[in-house]
Amino acid sequence: MKQLRNYTEEAVKIYLDRWYKEADVCQCDGCRLDVMAIMMNNLKSKYVVTDTGALYAQMDDFDPQNRIDFMTEMMQAVQLVKQRPRHEDRPLP
Ligand SMILES: [Zn+2]
Repeated sequence: MKQLRNYTEEAVKIYLDRWYKEADVCQCDGCRLDVMAIMMNNLKSKYVVTDTGALYAQMDDFDPQNRIDFMTEMMQAVQLVKQRPRHEDRPLP
């Protein structure tokens, strides 16, 4: 079955699965999702038509430039979330 998928979204998820635990930041789901949201807003969407399951195979040969971009985005997103964690559900000041 063919599907339309956002490659960037899938790549961010896979990237965070591998690297988020190495980052010096709260590991709760809320903070992780905040980091993901910031990354996805900053990275350009890239839509691809794929067979179910095929996307994960393509991820393995991630372009090295993409890795650098993702690392940079993750570090910036981690800094933002660290400065202003929202995991206690307090309203932002
Ligand atoms: Zn947290």
